[in-house]
Amino acid sequence: MAPIVRFAPSPTGFIHVGNARTALFNWLFALREGGRFLLRFDDTDAKRSRSDLAEAISRDLAWLGIEPAATYRQSDRLALYADAADRLKAGGRLYACYETAEELEARRQSQRRRGLPPVYDRAALRLTVAERSALEAQGRRPHWRFLLGSPAAERAAGEIAWRDLFRGPQAIDLGSLSDPVLVREDGTYPYTLPSVADDIDMGTTHVIRGEDHVTNTAVQVELFRALGAAEPGFGHHNLLVNAEGEGLSKRMGSQSVASYRDAGYEAMAVASLAVLIGTSEAVEPALDLADLARRFAPARVSRAPARFDEAELAAVNARLLHVLPWPAVADRLDSLGVGGGEAFWNAVRKNCVRLADARVWWDLVNGAPPAAAVAEADDAAFIAAAAELLPAEPWDSSTWSAWIGAVKAATGRSGKRLFMPLRLALTGLDHGPELAALLPFIGRSNTLARLALSRPR
Ligand code: GLU
Repeated sequence: MAPIVRFAPSPTGFIHVGNARTALFNWLFALREGGRFLLRFDDTDAKRSRSDLAEAISRDLAWLGIEPAATYRQSDRLALYADAADRLKAGGRLYACYETAEELEARRQSQRRRGLPPVYDRAALRLTVAERSALEAQGRRPHWRFLLGSPAAERAAGEIAWRDLFRGPQAIDLGSLSDPVLVREDGTYPYTLPSVADDIDMGTTHVIRGEDHVTNTAVQVELFRALGAAEPGFGHHNLLVNAEGEGLSKRMGSQSVASYRDAGYEAMAVASLAVLIGTSEAVEPALDLADLARRFAPARVSRAPARFDEAELAAVNARLLHVLPWPAVADRLDSLGVGGGEAFWNAVRKNCVRLADARVWWDLVNGAPPAAAVAEADDAAFIAAAAELLPAEPWDSSTWSAWIGAVKAATGRSGKRLFMPLRLALTGLDHGPELAALLPFIGRSNTLARLALSRPR
């Protein structure tokens, strides 16, 4: 059976690279296994969910190269969840509770004082019909808890075990968990029930997500079974932290995919780093997602949190620009206003961290003469001699060595004293692309003008 995976963000903020890691792990898994990738917006929290953010997430995924086979919104699927809740009630697995948040907090505090774990004691399960009516007469509306494991004890017994795709064998003691609230007082649903009802309905075969969901898995496995379905496979990957070691937050907008796109990073640089950090693979940029899929395997992902650093993103982006084929950049360079075709790109690509840096070099070659460092006093005669020796056009990539050879012979200079005054005069910088490649783009009259300007005043 072909796998079905899903990425299920809440549209409450822009996705960050940690979310992109989850989306990409699912996408690469589907790519490797010939499966389907679904996008599901977990938007049952009507106050915090926004349709513009859902659209932004779709845009970010498309930019990364992820194309969902189908897109769903939980807010369109409430009837499915009501039906699941009814079936659980009919089976005695969902029970009405009336405690207020304050009452529950007071109970937890008393449990802690007595050295007990702060697990819900199932008091509501023991309410008589008369007691429930009395509570309702006070105006209380029930919230509904899911009965984990057996109903006999004050809390569930037994454990839920699974072989995690990333973490290997896992086991969670149900007794350490409170029966979770599946339906709130106002009839809305926290994430748990809709997620499981959807995974059953969509035929999800593998749930791949961050390790902050490990504990939820025990509850969800119980829920799959209570709804008469076999649970899917589960995989929980390590989380990303920022350079300071802090967790990433969707609400803070930090490390958002959109901000890296707007900053001009390549999608494949973001994807390569988001996927390969915190794995046993070297963080080398992949040219496309198929290439990345060949390097991804859950068993290669390490257990410790992985550090995402923008400085590393810049380095990966630069390395990617060194190897990208010309057709991958031609149109974008054109829209950046960079001319000179493949030859110019090849001349400057090693000196670009982001694609837009090519425009800086293009302007430097074509624009007004740089505010050149004024030559040293003893460079005046040297620069004048070099100007005299400038070859006639047409120029090509061999012009520089012909010129510099003649200047060397005439002036006796060599090494840095030979080429640095010329580099400074032509570009205003003491570093940059090979002058042999740049010179034909600067052209003879421009070169002469720049040499003239750089003479000491
Ligand atoms: N909406 C949940 C989240 O963003 C989905 C978790 C899951 O994949 O089940 O964390």
